[in-house]
Amino acid sequence: MKDFLDELDQELDGTTNTNSDDNKVEQKVEKKDNTKREWRKVTLVLKKDQKNETKDNVVKQNTKQNTKRKDNNKWAYRNSDWEIRWKFNSNFPETKFYLPSLRKGYTRYMPVWGNNETWAKNMWMVQYGDDIVLIDCWVQFADKDMLWVNYSIPDVSFLTKYKKEIKGMLITHAHLDHIGSLKHVLPALGMPPIYGTRFTLGLIRKSLEEAGLIPHATLIEIDASTGDKFKVGSFSVEYFNVNHSVPDCAWIYLESEGGTKMVHTWDFKIDHTPAIDKPADLDRIKAIWDRDISLFLSDSTGSTRKGFSMSEKNVWEELERIVSNHTKGRLIIATFSSWISRIQQLVDICEKYDKTIFLSGRSMIENVAIAKELGYLSIKQGIVKKMTPKNTEWVAPHKQIVVTTGSQWEEFSALSRMAEWRHTAVEIVRWDTIIFSSSIVPGNEKSVIWIINKLIKLWAKVITKDDWEVHTWGHAFQEEQKIFLDLIKPKYFMPIFWDLYFRTVHANTAIWEGFKEENILMLDNGNMVDFAPNNGNVFKSRIKAPIQELVIDGHGMWLANSHVIKAREKMMNAWVLVVAFKVDKKTKAILGYIKLETRGLVYLEEVRFIHRMIIKKSRDVYENTIKDVPDMDEKDLVKILRTDLEKFLLHKLDREPMIIPMVTEV
Ligand SMILES: [Zn+2]
Repeated sequence: MKDFLDELDQELDGTTNTNSDDNKVEQKVEKKDNTKREWRKVTLVLKKDQKNETKDNVVKQNTKQNTKRKDNNKWAYRNSDWEIRWKFNSNFPETKFYLPSLRKGYTRYMPVWGNNETWAKNMWMVQYGDDIVLIDCWVQFADKDMLWVNYSIPDVSFLTKYKKEIKGMLITHAHLDHIGSLKHVLPALGMPPIYGTRFTLGLIRKSLEEAGLIPHATLIEIDASTGDKFKVGSFSVEYFNVNHSVPDCAWIYLESEGGTKMVHTWDFKIDHTPAIDKPADLDRIKAIWDRDISLFLSDSTGSTRKGFSMSEKNVWEELERIVSNHTKGRLIIATFSSWISRIQQLVDICEKYDKTIFLSGRSMIENVAIAKELGYLSIKQGIVKKMTPKNTEWVAPHKQIVVTTGSQWEEFSALSRMAEWRHTAVEIVRWDTIIFSSSIVPGNEKSVIWIINKLIKLWAKVITKDDWEVHTWGHAFQEEQKIFLDLIKPKYFMPIFWDLYFRTVHANTAIWEGFKEENILMLDNGNMVDFAPNNGNVFKSRIKAPIQELVIDGHGMWLANSHVIKAREKMMNAWVLVVAFKVDKKTKAILGYIKLETRGLVYLEEVRFIHRMIIKKSRDVYENTIKDVPDMDEKDLVKILRTDLEKFLLHKLDREPMIIPMVTEV
């Protein structure tokens, strides 16, 4: 991936001579060498015959070939499971929970994550007999109030017992809240094959490459436009094209051998005039009605919004109007790095009005590189460059269109650095205009307002979707939701995604459309619902799977409610006092001064007075204790010092710091 990015960086910079045959030969040789290096690394891990592995892990849909590859991978994992889990930091905690037994012919559905969330977290389980299929795999990055961790992922520990049963992971689309934790989850689950569309697999491949997992992974590409069915374990699966804010988004049709048929949507909308995707395949979706669908699960994100969502074409026209009229200062456009259609719109507009796009932010550059490589972006040479001081040097500010990450405040994103004048290439100044071509992900409101305030203080002009039509949502509004309910006419309907409020509004829309209340299923995460064969009755299990969250920091993986994380949360508000004594080994007399270190305990104006008071009290406590019991054990002495100082500070100052006494004998 690194070589590929370097090549594309050069190409984006306009420095690669792609027509040169010599260059092509050189690149081929380099790639070959790297492959060899990669294979040597794999051999060390697996310690098995490398002939069993294949070099290219993306395979087209071919039943015979896939079965062979899958078997080889399984063989490899049985022999190296521990090594891989250890290497890739996927040691999920142990749980004693077992899935309740499933009656013959029944099909089970369970939201592992995705219901009752105020964050975007998505993972679903479907079970038939001994076969389990998982859908999507979320990651959640820490917000402004969670700086002590990097991100959180689903705790799949209860699924680690079912490695053999997990036949595959079906992925709907390439957003991080659907693919982000695969690099942690896959090794723990025995590396099941991953099914997804071309662009989705492109981003997954990048993430697995960075984690060093690609040699172990099986990625199976599905063309959602063909209507071909394929087998995953005993399930028959089909993908459908739908529109969203990332290319190649799909719905999943899943039919078990028990005759239960499910249509699973996650994020989707209808767009008759999308920027680069095809419009949602309504003819095929319409035809689903004949299949007598048992369960339709549908995205509730837009359930409170009336009417239809806006088309990408409207955004295109608005952005063109802004770019064509812009004559002073830089135009900085903050958007999601996976919103490839928005980038294509900007590329086309900039080509027309003779402007240059400068990409800023690692994920923006990487995603554009992947989209270009896979043919989702069409970029003429010289239009798009990386944002570097050298690249911008000779381009007038009003000719520069900076496309950047950071529309949701992310701490180290390019836009945050620009707003704080920490970016190496852009310092935001008067006349610059910043467009938020994005919506605020629920929960991020405070952080985004914070960055907008920062920009306004720098005298920049800020435009959001509330001012002009610079953004459209990627989720279906009420009228689109009604259309799909009418088209599919399932026996049971389950609103999914987001919290109870959004799902209840979606349920009410369904009731409005004529659904019976008893046929609407509202499930919490970890709840299971079993469908009798051939569209029969539904049984809700009383047993609930233990659904927990894991947080990842620079040092490992922790349960979100573990004592480590709780202590860190406490430390954010705690005051700390360290009292250090140096004492004579024989006489136990205090030598020199007592040293104090405090954090968050005293204000500057009171420091001298309070420090003097604490030192005097510490000396008194120590000397009185030693006078009474001269040979007191150090552990007990420290305990008395801590307790007495705690009482003293609470009484005198009404403060309760964490107190750490240290006694050193010399
Ligand atoms: Zn999405």
